[in-house]
Amino acid sequence: MSILVVGSVAFDSVETPFGKAEDVLGGSATYFSTSASYFTDVSLVAVVGEDFPDEHVTLLTDRKVDVSGLTKVPGETFRWKGRYDYDLNQAHTLETHLNVFSDFEPEIPEDHRDNDFLFLANIDPELQLKVLDQVTGARFTACDTMNFWIESKIEKVKEVFSRVDLVVINEGEAREFAGEASLVKAAKKVLALGPRIIIIKRGEYGAIMFTETTVFSAPAYPLEEIFDPTGAGDTFAGGMMGLVASTGDISEANIRRAIVLGSTMASFNVEAFSLDRLKDLKTEEINDRYGEFKRLTHFEGL
Ligand code: AMP
Repeated sequence: MSILVVGSVAFDSVETPFGKAEDVLGGSATYFSTSASYFTDVSLVAVVGEDFPDEHVTLLTDRKVDVSGLTKVPGETFRWKGRYDYDLNQAHTLETHLNVFSDFEPEIPEDHRDNDFLFLANIDPELQLKVLDQVTGARFTACDTMNFWIESKIEKVKEVFSRVDLVVINEGEAREFAGEASLVKAAKKVLALGPRIIIIKRGEYGAIMFTETTVFSAPAYPLEEIFDPTGAGDTFAGGMMGLVASTGDISEANIRRAIVLGSTMASFNVEAFSLDRLKDLKTEEINDRYGEFKRLTHFEGL
């Protein structure tokens, strides 16, 4: 089954201790859809400005992403500038220019309104709500967000959380949202709003999933070199949702598998700037690394 994703398509300028990149392709929906495209059909809804080059659109169409919901309007594309210090888990936002996203009214193409799987990637929660209003027949909905929106529109973020099945969020942002140092308490506060599942992304420490009655924890792949963590969260979500949608199986057992596949995809993405590594992976390398995850976490009972 296919996934509909709404989120940002952006120009990113990123500085890490290992190098920098200026105005490269980024955005939450870009990373998400590229990652998910390895497992299922994806349709993207977003807006870009007239400065957005065709070659970036081609990168998506080469991955068979349906871009009929990507509109180009007069103005400039969304821009984000960030820096990472040696703690690569923590992105420091230097600049956010919403540009064409400031007055974007998402219009979901008629044939996508009953899509089974919907992912609301990181973007203005008011836009996420407008998409939820239009896609009313989805079987499984999930969302992401970030501190920028938690700090400026917390009530809208809460409303989004209350209307989805799964919340995917960073560790620091979960703590900030809930006002709790304990991740267990933060997860409970989010679950109390209505979602069935929360997955907290913990950067190089992996991801942890909470439901009302269960907890599952997966490590991140221990890479020797991480070049640029930008997009790791969206790539994780893309791999995770990609497996869930391609199998149509929303059981917890399958979501556990999907978390490991998401972590596998994220581990590739951080090996290079922008989508340089993610854009043409081979099935074999994805499968090999997934297998390594299995060995990494295997242990015998007492
Ligand atoms: P992450 O997967 O969390 O590293 O997300 C990185 C992507 O989020 C970058 O490519 C940015 O373009 C995008 N981004 C940064 N800030 C925002 C924002 N306020 N709203 C939407 N997308 C953003």
